[in-house]
Amino acid sequence: MANKIQTLNDLSFSSDQQPVVFLRLDLNVPIKKGAISDETRIVAALPTIKWLLDKKAKIIACSHLGRPKGVGYEEEFSLAPVGVRLAELLNLEVVLAQDYVEDGFGKIVYDLKPNQIILLENLRFHKEEQAGNANFAQKLAKNAEFYVNDAFGTCHRADASMFAVPECFPLEKRAAGFLVAKEMQFLEEAFRAPKAPVTAIFGGSKVSDKIDILRKFTNIANNMIIGGAMAYTFLKYLGKNVGKSRVEEDKLNLVEEIFKAAEKRNVKIYLPEDHICGADFSENTIPVVVQSADIPEGLMGLDIGEKSAVTFGKIIESSNVVVWNGPMGVFEFESFSKGTKAVAQALAQCSGTTIVGGGDSAAAIVKFNLQDKVTHVSTGGGASMELLEGKELPGIKVLRKK
Ligand code: AMP
Repeated sequence: MANKIQTLNDLSFSSDQQPVVFLRLDLNVPIKKGAISDETRIVAALPTIKWLLDKKAKIIACSHLGRPKGVGYEEEFSLAPVGVRLAELLNLEVVLAQDYVEDGFGKIVYDLKPNQIILLENLRFHKEEQAGNANFAQKLAKNAEFYVNDAFGTCHRADASMFAVPECFPLEKRAAGFLVAKEMQFLEEAFRAPKAPVTAIFGGSKVSDKIDILRKFTNIANNMIIGGAMAYTFLKYLGKNVGKSRVEEDKLNLVEEIFKAAEKRNVKIYLPEDHICGADFSENTIPVVVQSADIPEGLMGLDIGEKSAVTFGKIIESSNVVVWNGPMGVFEFESFSKGTKAVAQALAQCSGTTIVGGGDSAAAIVKFNLQDKVTHVSTGGGASMELLEGKELPGIKVLRKK
């Protein structure tokens, strides 16, 4: 596994100077008509900002917001409302900088007072940000001495502020903020030498989307639990009747590969032994309980059944490390959400380390209000998935110790 990353405690600030820190945050919050509808990401950024302020740092904070065209200012995508809220939460002044790639910006940084921080206007107003442009990165980095990345959800993107800006700083002056460090602790460190039994639960729609993560966990887990639509491709491979469940006929070879890899390491694969089915993929379809692994013609599996939920729950509760990625059924439909809820509850009951990968499983654990009962709920969708797959993320690679 790759080297550990630099964290805030690895940075050495000289006490007699105010160090200037370029701080990449994820302040990409939903804004409608100037009003922020969910400020979770702003609140989540506060611990790192406060830690830096405690060290008397001058902060140049920045983020992207939405998907502007990349050809200059667009009011709809302005970070101005975020700056206002940040100022309220920190009880200081936020200077929103528009012309931060111009020479005059250096004076704004130089003149910054202890009760002020700078927030750069949306990085994506410049097309060079998403192009990963090195020249743009140099202009961003020019006025700072340190680089801190606390934008976990963007770490899988090779944007200028994520990899090219940190490359302008010596490694000992780059670090992950608290959010990124925590995600790394649970999505990477937790699997360096995990104490058995390790259980990985996978669900969601497609085997093909999850093949890399399935492969990776045949090398780590002791138990693999498969639910969701994905389970039907596995059951079909085993020769079961799957009715009109969603099956990827052309991915049976991938399932075979997973079974073979699992067999080599003696990893147990658990599939649903009963199902909640419906005649159609619709919220109003009548739920039909099918008490066997085989599904009759005309029905599709939309959730795992009660027996499966009990079996899966026992395995989860007796594990030392559990990672969960993907719902057990169509949890968005009330009648087909019980299996996903049961898995979420089993995680909540487990006394080991319980990790919920981002995206739909994170949405599910929040829906069932169990997010405080698990060890870690990842905030990144794509980024957490790629990390769990064992991929190197551009935003993380530049923070690794040598
Ligand atoms: P993913 O993004 O791959 O994790 O897939 C999540 C989606 O899979 C959710 O929107 C679920 O509704 C869907 N899903 C889960 N189980 C099933 C199923 N048995 N049949 C169809 N879709 C499912």
